Amino acid sequence: MNFPSALIDALRQFVSHTPLALWAIAIAVFTAAELVTRQRVPWQRRVVNLVNGSVVLLVIFVAGPLVAGTLHWLQGSLGYRPSFLLDRYVPFAPLAALIFLLAYDLGYYGFHRLQHAAPLLWRVHAVHHSETDLNATSYVRQHFLENVLQSFAVMVPLLMVVPVTPRTLAWVALISAMAQFFAHAALPIHFGPLSALFISPRLHRIHHSADRAESDSNYASMFPLWDVVFRTYRPPSPRPERTGLHSNERLLGIWPLLSSPFRRRRTTMA
Ligand SMILES: [Zn+2]
Ligand SMILES: [Zn+2]
Repeated sequence: MNFPSALIDALRQFVSHTPLALWAIAIAVFTAAELVTRQRVPWQRRVVNLVNGSVVLLVIFVAGPLVAGTLHWLQGSLGYRPSFLLDRYVPFAPLAALIFLLAYDLGYYGFHRLQHAAPLLWRVHAVHHSETDLNATSYVRQHFLENVLQSFAVMVPLLMVVPVTPRTLAWVALISAMAQFFAHAALPIHFGPLSALFISPRLHRIHHSADRAESDSNYASMFPLWDVVFRTYRPPSPRPERTGLHSNERLLGIWPLLSSPFRRRRTTMA
């Protein structure tokens, strides 16, 4: 298989591997952990998040070919032939996936900071920050455009620079899904002195603080190392007491979640 078609195939595999089964398993595992440890999360909140998550999944399935097509078009118009395939140097797929994710997280870090700084991007990202009771379903409490924007802004450019095989991309989907659902779970877990190495619920909770000074930190989705490097790292602590939007706005119900970025009134950033 030549490189361009391997890349397209890899992206398709990523899209088809990411959603349904992985998300369902991760939500089941971390919800069970929350119930066993008696964390209080309103069931209504979980249900609304899951309904919203099914819309997110639907959009990923529709937008997937569009993202793959863009990659194909980019390669064609640039006459691009990648000469570097990560798997050739790191044959162990899970390790190659971790290296790929480290690079992905650097790109995600930059895009995520932009989402907090640019009002138009914040309108979309604010939907994820509207969660006031973080739990195992909060990762899928995101606007349906969020994943599409991330794919175009981070995944497509990264696959142009660091191509990987479909097998590695399947591991990427598995590891990142588990990490994201874990990070949002209502569990009092952190990694103590090793907290800067990998995301934990206590660490990501700070990013969801209703206090702007706290939420403008811990941007990395998996490796807080990037926050340490760019000086936005806040170590885990029992704070914050309150999570949600700085404006105190609460998006209750499915329609407010879907329509929030398009509504006339401004979703304030502070
Ligand atoms: Zn954010
Ligand atoms: Zn989050």
